[in-house]
Amino acid sequence: MFDKGADIPYNMQCCPDAGTLDVRPILYTPGRSLSFRFTLNLSDMDFGGRRPVTRPVEVSGTVRNRAGVLSLELSAETTLDACCDRCGKRFPLPKRTAFRCTLAESLQNGDGDGDEELVLLQDGQADAGELARTAFVLDMDTKILCSEDCKGLCPRCGANLNEGACGCQPEPDPRWAALSALLDAPDEP
Ligand SMILES: [Zn+2]
Ligand SMILES: [Zn+2]
Repeated sequence: MFDKGADIPYNMQCCPDAGTLDVRPILYTPGRSLSFRFTLNLSDMDFGGRRPVTRPVEVSGTVRNRAGVLSLELSAETTLDACCDRCGKRFPLPKRTAFRCTLAESLQNGDGDGDEELVLLQDGQADAGELARTAFVLDMDTKILCSEDCKGLCPRCGANLNEGACGCQPEPDPRWAALSALLDAPDEP
């Protein structure tokens, strides 16, 4: 059996059911922890018509039994194939999502660290893959810019204004156009 208090390395990488975490070895032993690591494939995930998660998402984390309460911490990271919403430039964007929750067998014994999310175990198992996937998806930015001061594209010729001015005149405001038409009108004789 395992040594009491030892950190049990729990490698799920070669497990066919990647992401399913069996926490029974530490469920009733305060002080013990279990670490895990696996990869998620989110390449099919659609975000605004694009699929930016082209590379595997590396998930790693730990479940600790703290005085009888199981707390799970994980981080999911990858490099996105991002596309600037303003100028359309594609660029690699490092992305890291952190997530933590309390694992409990039932709602009664789940009074963990206050307002931490509570996730119920099913037969001593937690679906860490699903937790990581959900946390990662919720953490995706709705707007991605190649830089905070991206100038975007010219609305008239489509040139990338980050690469310099295109020479187009700014679009005249229709209200000013009406006014200048009035001013240009020949004076009444
Ligand atoms: Zn841009
Ligand atoms: Zn232009």
